[in-house]
Amino acid sequence: ALSMPVTEFREAFAAGAVNKIEDVCKAAKYTLKRLENYKSKDELLAAVADVDAMIIRSDIVDQAVLDKASKMKIVVRAGAGYDNIDLKACEAKSITAMNTPGQNANAVAELVFGMMIVSARNNFDGTSGFELVNREIAFYGFGAVARAVHKLAQGFGMKSFAYDPYIPADQIQAAGATPVSSVAELFDHQYVSLHVPLTNETKDSINKALLGKMPKGGTLINTARTEVVHEADMIEVLKTRPDFCYLCDVAPKDIEPYKAAVGDKYGTRLIFTKKKMGAQTAEANDNAGVAAANQIVGFFEKGETRFSLKA
Ligand code: NAD
Repeated sequence: ALSMPVTEFREAFAAGAVNKIEDVCKAAKYTLKRLENYKSKDELLAAVADVDAMIIRSDIVDQAVLDKASKMKIVVRAGAGYDNIDLKACEAKSITAMNTPGQNANAVAELVFGMMIVSARNNFDGTSGFELVNREIAFYGFGAVARAVHKLAQGFGMKSFAYDPYIPADQIQAAGATPVSSVAELFDHQYVSLHVPLTNETKDSINKALLGKMPKGGTLINTARTEVVHEADMIEVLKTRPDFCYLCDVAPKDIEPYKAAVGDKYGTRLIFTKKKMGAQTAEANDNAGVAAANQIVGFFEKGETRFSLKA
């Protein structure tokens, strides 16, 4: 029934990924239209007017975009986080929204360990650090990324804990991690790594009461979303607890107050990537883009809705 689903990009996919996405589209006899590195929202609004489907990365899909995209049936976020899609507005227009969970999980997990090692070894500044072996890491959310981090943690000889009310405790246990029954219990362990989506429930949920509970050398790792952490509380804890570390892949808009809170410990106690780097690998870029294209073809050709998101 469908001849031309089209996709749109704000940040360009790697050339190799685009070629693979193109192959999926060609095989299905779909036309791929590219919009990359656009500068104004008007370009996006003009481009969506005649498309049946969209693959997005960080592009904002809000009411204005959906109103223009009058033919669109499906939008797929090539990646895990989907807080850039207005799901309620999609539902109201009967547009299916999906993400591609798991495709970038290993990339994010490797970055988590990269940041942990840089911090444990004092950013290789010539002073003595510590080892990760036998230490404890607790996961808030136990989806694809948390499981990939857990797998690496097992290799490092660490002990894992997890809180995820949407996953049965015996499944967490079977994966080799210890389930805990509240968010607060996670903060009894030295490392807490955030792997929940940004939702009303998780927004600002990491506050000073939780961070204050952490044992000596307490370290929060955030590769989820900045907004999951209560900003003012985090800055206060960085100021008042000289042993506490924050390793973050999702920098806040203004990092100056964070830097001021740790002074010369920037780079060891406080690590920020330059921009969101977790999924920025050749492999993840390919995987997520191709998965998104395949999900669109599966949706139109076979009615597949496995990765549909609910408002
Ligand atoms: P996922 O969907 O596989 O896992 C998320 C898990 O969180 C699920 O198991 C879900 O049950 C759980 N969850 C939801 N609400 C919760 C709550 N209130 N309390 C506890 N658990 C809850 O997603 P993922 O691939 O593991 O990614 C997790 C998040 O990390 C994404 O939503 C995204 O925001 C972020 N992410 C960031 C990058 C990056 O580049 N830094 C890359 C991938 C994902």
